[in-house]
Amino acid sequence: MLEHIYKSDPEVAGAIVAEARRQDETLEMIASENFVSMAVMEAQGSILTNKYAEGYSGRRYYGGCENVDLIETLACQRAKAIFGAEHANVQPHSGSSANIAAYYSVAKHGDTILGMSLAHGGHLTHGHKVNFSGSHFNVVQYGLDPKTERIDYEAMRQLAREHRPRVILAGASAYPREIDFTPFREAADEVGAIFMVDMAHFAGLVVGGMHANPVPIADIVTTTTHKTLRGPRGGIIFSKAELAKAVDKTIFPGYQGGPLEHVIAAKAVALHEAMQPEFKLYQEQTVKNARTLAATLKEGGLRLITGGTDTHLLLVDVTPLGLTGRAAEDALHRAGITVNKNAIPFDPNPPAVASGIRLGTPALTTRGMKEGEMELIGSWILEIFRAPQAEETAQKVRAKVLELCQSFPLYPQLRAEGESLKRGSSPVEV
Ligand code: PLP
Repeated sequence: MLEHIYKSDPEVAGAIVAEARRQDETLEMIASENFVSMAVMEAQGSILTNKYAEGYSGRRYYGGCENVDLIETLACQRAKAIFGAEHANVQPHSGSSANIAAYYSVAKHGDTILGMSLAHGGHLTHGHKVNFSGSHFNVVQYGLDPKTERIDYEAMRQLAREHRPRVILAGASAYPREIDFTPFREAADEVGAIFMVDMAHFAGLVVGGMHANPVPIADIVTTTTHKTLRGPRGGIIFSKAELAKAVDKTIFPGYQGGPLEHVIAAKAVALHEAMQPEFKLYQEQTVKNARTLAATLKEGGLRLITGGTDTHLLLVDVTPLGLTGRAAEDALHRAGITVNKNAIPFDPNPPAVASGIRLGTPALTTRGMKEGEMELIGSWILEIFRAPQAEETAQKVRAKVLELCQSFPLYPQLRAEGESLKRGSSPVEV
């Protein structure tokens, strides 16, 4: 797959091979990441990148769209079948693009939206002031109950009554518990709002039956395709049939030009994979792994936000072991464990320092790791946290990480190809 890049652009080829090695030799625990199949990568790397196809299947502004029509139709049909949706638009380039288009399908500039605050686990696009969502709309934010650290549904309902938003949004980036959609639906019905869900994080869990499906209950649902859903980077919007026209018009010609048909093909392939029985088992294992990791870290003295997890992610308060989120992220990075620092609810530290880390199991589970490996990795995390500055501990854990990674090889064919190209005539240092 890399042969031609090696010939034409050895600098980029070298960096790709180095990245393949990094992914292979480290433990990827960023909750929003995953490893796609070779089939998904082949689709995304295909000649479909050459095609302009503004419009929708059967209604394009360019000729020669018969093949991409078929592919995009398959992607839409599969998306609708998996989630039980009346309509699906598979063109959004990303989760953020899906959210912009979803808002503008049902609301106008200046309307009020009620979303979850970033500081309590929401996403930037849910109304943060530095994001378009915060500047285009009048934003009201709900958050967590300080005692339970779970969504304060009653406070959300009160805010809805007080502000009568046009859109009420459920969904989060750093919330470890299953979201109950019923109070949101009720609040939306009471005040005449549109109920929107951003299921970017837990879409794969929905397919696996590990999280309630928001599609039947919400008016409009967005997702990314690259997190638990394990597809290419991108987005999808699902909606009720009556919103279909508005959604399609807002994506194109409203916010996007030509759809990325190579990415849409990769979405179709990933959705086909998601329809197989193994995908359900994968999602079940992802949640089992998160629970096992949570129990191990808790036993070791760390505090878990909400006390545990129902999903693929954990939010861990590292301050009981005398660390900040930033120090914890750096210490783990030195040992080959990749995580991100994260604010915890009511965090006294600024976001660039933070008091927590967010951990996820989707990528490790894709490699085939199970509960035993989670206990091991949890014990290494604790070992590092007890001596975050000790280079010797970092090196010792790094060696164990490497050994574990070698037992669960990632993209072996790509790695072998890259290494053989390196041994050949390429001048690239990797
Ligand atoms: N929505 C949620 C809940 C997310 O967590 C994210 C990304 O992390 C997004 C939307 C944005 O997705 P993208 O990075 O593809 O724009």
